[in-house]
Amino acid sequence: MSREQQAVERARTAFLTGRSKPLDYRIGQLKALQRCITERQKDISDALKKDLNKSEIGTPLYETLGLEGEIMLAVNKLAQWAAPRPVEKNLLTLSDQVFIQPQPLGVVLVIGAWNYPWAVTLQPLIGVIAAGNAAIVKPSEVSVHSSKVMEEILPLYLDKVTPPPPPCPVWSDCERDVPVVTGGVSETQELLRQRFDHIVYTGNSSVGKLVMEAAARHLTPVTLELGGKSPCYIDKQCDITIACRRITWGKFTNCGQTCIAPDYILCEPSLQDRVVEEIRKNVKEFYSDDPKSCVDYGRIINQRHFRRVMALVEGSTIALGGENDESLSYIAPTVLRDVKPDAKVMQEEIFGPVLPIVTVSGVDEAIRFINEREKPLALYVFSPDNKLIRRIIDETSSGGVLANDCLVHFSVSALPFGGVGNSGMGCYHGRHSFDQFSHLRGCLLKSLAMEGVNKMRYPPHTAKKLGWARFFILQQVDLGFLGRMAALAVLAVIAAVMLQRYLQ
Ligand code: NAD
Repeated sequence: MSREQQAVERARTAFLTGRSKPLDYRIGQLKALQRCITERQKDISDALKKDLNKSEIGTPLYETLGLEGEIMLAVNKLAQWAAPRPVEKNLLTLSDQVFIQPQPLGVVLVIGAWNYPWAVTLQPLIGVIAAGNAAIVKPSEVSVHSSKVMEEILPLYLDKVTPPPPPCPVWSDCERDVPVVTGGVSETQELLRQRFDHIVYTGNSSVGKLVMEAAARHLTPVTLELGGKSPCYIDKQCDITIACRRITWGKFTNCGQTCIAPDYILCEPSLQDRVVEEIRKNVKEFYSDDPKSCVDYGRIINQRHFRRVMALVEGSTIALGGENDESLSYIAPTVLRDVKPDAKVMQEEIFGPVLPIVTVSGVDEAIRFINEREKPLALYVFSPDNKLIRRIIDETSSGGVLANDCLVHFSVSALPFGGVGNSGMGCYHGRHSFDQFSHLRGCLLKSLAMEGVNKMRYPPHTAKKLGWARFFILQQVDLGFLGRMAALAVLAVIAAVMLQRYLQ
C-alpha cells in the first residue's frame, strides 16, 4: 500500500470514528491550528523568506493574519453555522419540521499552490475542519521550504486536542484527522487515484482539468480555485494618482505572483503616459530605486517560472523596469506599453511582475475585450462613476469584482471567493467555506397527523383530487407568520371536512 493510500485510509478511519464531528472537537482543532500559526510564526516566516523572499512583516500581512481572522470567525460562528436551518414552509408542510442540516462530507483532499503556500493551503483547511471533516493536506512541492515546515509542524498541533484512543500507543501510529502528504506530481496523482468525499484544488487551470478528471472517476465533487488574466479598467474620470498607487501595490506584491493580481490594464490612449509615470513614482516609493535590494520586494519562485515570465515580455515595448537577474530569480517591476491583444504576454496569465497596458477607446471596447476572453478570477475597475461600475458588473462575468482598489476583496470573509468558468468553480471564505465543505442535507420531518390531506395523492386518481393537488402544490409562496397561522387554521378546517366526508 502506498504512503498516500495509507494516509487516506487513516484519515477515513479517523473520520469513521466520528471524532471530527462534535463542535467542541472542531473548535479545539481550529484553536490548535491558530496556536500552530502563532507559535511557529518564525519557522513559517523563515521558510517564506527562502521560498519567495517574503519579508518578516510580509508573512503576517499576506499569509497568516487572514488565516487567524478566518479561524476566529469560524470559532465564534460555528454553533450558528452548524445549527439546523429552518426553511420556508408551504401549505403541505405547515405542520411539519422542514430544515437544512449541514453535515460533514467525509475525507477532503486539500491541494495547495506555492504562491501563498500557507494562506491558500490552510484557508480551505479551516473550512474543512469547521465543517467536521477529516482532511489530507497536500502542500505544493514548488514552495519547497514551506512544504517541509508544514509537514513538520501541522501534525504537532492538529489531532492532539484529545488524548489518543487507548489501543494507539503513539500519535504517529494513530489514525489522523489531518495528515500532511508532501511530494510532487506523482504523489499528487497517486492521491488523486484514491476516493475522497471532496477535493479542493488551488493552482493552474490545466492541472485543474486533470484534478476534475480524476475526481470524476469517483464522482467526487471539486472546488477548483484557479487563476486567469484579471483585467483592470481605468476610467479617464478617476483619480489616476490614487488608482495607480493601489494598482502598483496589487500588481507587484509577492512579485506579481498573486492569483488575483491585476494581470493587465485597459485604458484610453490619453491616459497611458500618466499611468506609466504614476506607477514609476510608486515603485520608487514602495521598493526604492533598487527593488533588488529592497526587503519588501519578492522573488520569482524558481528559474522555470523566471524563464516563463521573461519569455512573455518578448516582443512588447518596455516602458518601465525590465531589469532581471536569473541567478537570483529577480525581475524588476515592469510595465509594458501599447501592448497588442495578440502579444505573447496577453496569451496566458502572467503571474509575475509584468504589467501590460492595452489601450481601448472607452468602456464599450473594454467590456467587449473582457467578454471575448476567458472569464477571469477578478475584475478591477477604477472610476468615480457608479453607473459605469454597475454597467461593468452587469455586462461582464468574473469570479469577483472590486471597484477602486486591488486584492482586498479577498480579505472580506462575508464575500464568496472563487472563480467562474476557466477561473474555477465553487467558492470559500467564512461561512461560504463551511457550506462548501458541508453536505446541506434537506430534512423533512412529517407528522403523522392530517392524513386526510394526503388522500388527494392516493389512487384511485380523480379529476377532483387533481384539483386539490393543484391548489396545494401551486401555492408555494412564503406565507409569513400570520399567514401561516391563518393557513394552518384553513388547512385544519379543510382536513376536518375531508376526513368527515371520507369517513361517511
Ligand atoms: P503548483 O505547481 O504548486 O501546483 C499546484 C498543485 O498541483 C501542487 O500541489 C502540485 O503537486 C499539483 N500538480 C502539479 N502538476 C500536477 C499534475 N500534472 N497532476 C496532478 N497534480 C499536479 O501551482 P501552480 O499551478 O503553478 O499555481 C499557480 C496558479 O494557481 C496560478 O494560475 C494562480 O492564479 C493559481 N492560484 C489560484 C488561487 C485561487 O485562490 N484561485 C490561489 C493561488 C494560486
